[in-house]
Amino acid sequence: MIGVILYGAGLGMLGLLMRSNWSALEREVETLAGTLHDSLKPLLPAEAKPSPQLAAVLPGLCLVGSPCQPAPSLIPRHAVSITDPERFYLRLLDPSGGLIAHSPGSPRAKAERPGPAWTVVAGPGGERFLQYSIHLHRSHTPADPGANALEMDWGYLQIGRSLSGLDAERQRLWWATQTIVVLALVVAGLASWWLSGLAMRPLLAAYRQQEQFTGDAAHELRAPLANLLAVVEAHRTKPPADAVARDQMLAAVQGQGQRLSRLISDLLLLARLDGPEAGAAMQSCSLTQIACDLLEETSEAASIAEVQLRLQSGDDDLNVLGVESELYRLVSNLLLNAIQYTPSGGEVLLSLRREGNLGLLQVQDSGMGITPADQQRIFDRFFRSDPGRSRRQGGTGLGLSIVAAIIRRHRGEIIVASKPGSGSVFTVKLPMATTPAPPSGSTACPH
Ligand code: ADP
Repeated sequence: MIGVILYGAGLGMLGLLMRSNWSALEREVETLAGTLHDSLKPLLPAEAKPSPQLAAVLPGLCLVGSPCQPAPSLIPRHAVSITDPERFYLRLLDPSGGLIAHSPGSPRAKAERPGPAWTVVAGPGGERFLQYSIHLHRSHTPADPGANALEMDWGYLQIGRSLSGLDAERQRLWWATQTIVVLALVVAGLASWWLSGLAMRPLLAAYRQQEQFTGDAAHELRAPLANLLAVVEAHRTKPPADAVARDQMLAAVQGQGQRLSRLISDLLLLARLDGPEAGAAMQSCSLTQIACDLLEETSEAASIAEVQLRLQSGDDDLNVLGVESELYRLVSNLLLNAIQYTPSGGEVLLSLRREGNLGLLQVQDSGMGITPADQQRIFDRFFRSDPGRSRRQGGTGLGLSIVAAIIRRHRGEIIVASKPGSGSVFTVKLPMATTPAPPSGSTACPH
């Protein structure tokens, strides 16, 4: 497309330039013809035919019927002149179009009727001439003294102007246009290649991420499925001898099934969170109530892990704008991670407060902490610092990706501060709601 536009523009410019050169040439020939006509008018003999008087008026011209020798010029010409035989020729015709006199280099010596005012004629060597024909008049003063001069038709004057300079110029410009267009195309091609590379970079990154995710998801799904099939296969080849062995086998099948189910529901949730927003679902939600409910729900997991769970919250209800089910999932993932990655005897503190027009929720643990390098990657899908430990504890590796996706949808922010060996703090900031949350049937919060 760029090539076609450039080529069109180049040819347009060339056409305009040649048009203006042509007009300048026409003006030049017209001026010369007018000047010559005016200066010849009083000098022309009475009859329009070859005669010594005519030869005297125009000494450089050859008369028809007389031998014609070009007058050798020893003085080089520096100025534009009508007598320059390389650029101009002159022809005089009688009223019927018969040739009377002509310049030595005139292209057509044959008699002819003068055609339209402007014509392009070809010279003997293929050189082109722009020819202009005008009526030639003679001034005649009647014998009666005091009478005004009369203008009488005498014949025709033809001036030819060589087009060799203009043709050479056109040729030069044509080649220059071709060269510039080709060069511009090469530059445009290189620039587009570079720019498209730049534009493709984020797309490529997203594509690679998607590819990585698909590979990771397939891998994560294959492991529990392979375990499950292995247990079933073992049961078929060698059925359990007693009820205890059968129960163990069924428990293993159930465990792998639950792991698969968790993984699939997490993947579905992520796909839903990545999809278009369901704006209607956003409403005022009490973060305090969500925190209280989840504290109660996770208290059993905390007591199994021998981790002390505490809530620190102001008296006021902290209402944020969001989707309640998603906010439950967000806080639950952070709380369960904190419990999971804190050794027994440790502590997990959930605190809530208001900061300007933002609601702040903080989950602080005294656990193993996260290295600075891992802090950059923990929100990536399927990333685990310690894959073995995470899998043993039933983690899918998608918990924090879900947290990040929920926060993104809520136009919030999450900040991680952690020191390996001394615990981590996850701080979530969410926009406050302007209206209070609708009352829920949940129990009072155990502070
Ligand atoms: P997982 O199912 O493995 O918990 P997550 O996405 O929830 O997946 O977490 C990703 C990784 O981030 C975890 O494997 C763990 O290494 C690290 N992580 C998350 N929360 C904590 C925490 N509170 N303390 C230490 N490490 C954590």
